[in-house]
Amino acid sequence: MTHSPTTTADVVVIGGGFAGISAARDLSRAGLEVILLEARDRLGGRTWYRDSPLGRPLELGGTFVHWIQPHLWAEMVAHDLELEPSPGVDEVYWIMGGKVHSDSVEEYSALVSPGMAGLTEGARDAFPMPHQLFPMSESALAADALSVTDRLDQLGLTAEQIEVARSRWALSFNGSPEEGSAAQPLRLAALCGGNWQLVSEANRAYTVAGGTGRLVEAVHEGSTADIRLSTTVTAVKASEHQVKVTTSDGATVTARHVVVTLPLDILNTIEFDPPLSEGKQTAAERGQVSSGVKVWMRAKGRIRPFIAFAPDEYPLTMAGTEYEIGDDTILLGFGPHSDKLDVTDVKAVEAALHQWRPDIELIAVDAHDWTADPLSGETWAMPRPGHLSTEIAELQRPEGRVRLAGSDYAHGWAGYIDGALESGRRAARHLIDELTRVAR
Ligand SMILES: Cc1cc2nc3c(=O)[nH]c(=O)nc-3n(C[C@H](O)[C@H](O)[C@H](O)COP(=O)(O)OP(=O)(O)OC[C@H]3O[C@@H](n4cnc5c(N)ncnc54)[C@H](O)[C@@H]3O)c2cc1C
Repeated sequence: MTHSPTTTADVVVIGGGFAGISAARDLSRAGLEVILLEARDRLGGRTWYRDSPLGRPLELGGTFVHWIQPHLWAEMVAHDLELEPSPGVDEVYWIMGGKVHSDSVEEYSALVSPGMAGLTEGARDAFPMPHQLFPMSESALAADALSVTDRLDQLGLTAEQIEVARSRWALSFNGSPEEGSAAQPLRLAALCGGNWQLVSEANRAYTVAGGTGRLVEAVHEGSTADIRLSTTVTAVKASEHQVKVTTSDGATVTARHVVVTLPLDILNTIEFDPPLSEGKQTAAERGQVSSGVKVWMRAKGRIRPFIAFAPDEYPLTMAGTEYEIGDDTILLGFGPHSDKLDVTDVKAVEAALHQWRPDIELIAVDAHDWTADPLSGETWAMPRPGHLSTEIAELQRPEGRVRLAGSDYAHGWAGYIDGALESGRRAARHLIDELTRVAR
């Protein structure tokens, strides 16, 4: 006898990235019945550690983690996971005024410091408690009215200092700093005690030993949620007493509440009835800044460890050595616009790398284009001007039985794995309070 799958639950969670699996775990541990619907055939969402044709497992999505990220670090400790330090570099290349420069890390740091320090000065005043965004300070609101490049132009820097700082923020936004809120550098620095060097360290210095797949398993541990992979949600219909969730095969699941963890740029791909508030819809239409790519490259021969930066008019804003493999080297690169670099085309990626290093010959490349992927539509969420002042509070506001969770909607490390955990756990906490209060 076959059993048809259960079609009712206390909570349906849509999406099995870190927000979805942390919410589902906390809710199910509290004794609630949870069904998690995930369109992909795996958990982990925008993190994906898998074997690569380049010859070793690689992280195709979210990678770098740090103990300064509280929700992430709590999971690392609770599950006895360790960090793996990233390799160091001997030299830095950068493009300035259309020309390639190279020097020691110290020389490059002296050039980039004024822009980085200028953009992050006053971070602790702007975001005095960065894990509680509200109420937002006057200085954060003022910065959020400007783009990163507007703000750089106000700092009295030289053209060279502006250009190298722009390159760094093009990498951080995985897009154009012209489109990024000047409040975001302040917010990130505030999360790091005002120290911009620590922001850089959090962005690059450590990975999860054994890969983010281990973190996915760890966060999922102890969950009794009913996980349904390869199940794409198309519609969410909420009434006074329940929510009906419809999937692409026409099946429905009903629940008392739903947690939607879709990234902002694809939020409008689900049909909501009643529609999400105008504020949420407009924020999703406007979207966030990241529209880039991450690409792994296998290059011939051993290459002296380096890192390279370029402004966002170039197809790669960063590239650097990462691993040695046999007699070859594996490099990592990021580009700001997925439509300007075909990351499956080894010759196109090699030509982009040649902007700094025409001597390097690529053998193969490996990547997943998250921006083109209809289940993500972006890489890591980075705010446009006005997002923090006018959109984020509305995105965080539940509407009846429907609430959003996800890294894109977090208070603290929004855009990072830590933000996904924060937001998923917060959504679960609120629902546990609400549902168990009703039951009492
Ligand atoms: C290339 C890249 C590099 C990154 N680097 C870092 C880094 O170094 N450090 C760091 O901390 N973060 C990094 N990030 C960001 C980090 O990976 C994400 O912020 C985080 O993983 C997002 O988790 P989430 O649960 O909020 O969203 P997601 O992981 O996107 O989860 C949402 C889930 O919803 C599913 N879904 C979408 N539509 C539907 C539907 N209709 N029905 C059912 N399911 C659906 C998706 O398949 C997905 O699994 C990076 C991201 C990328 C892409």
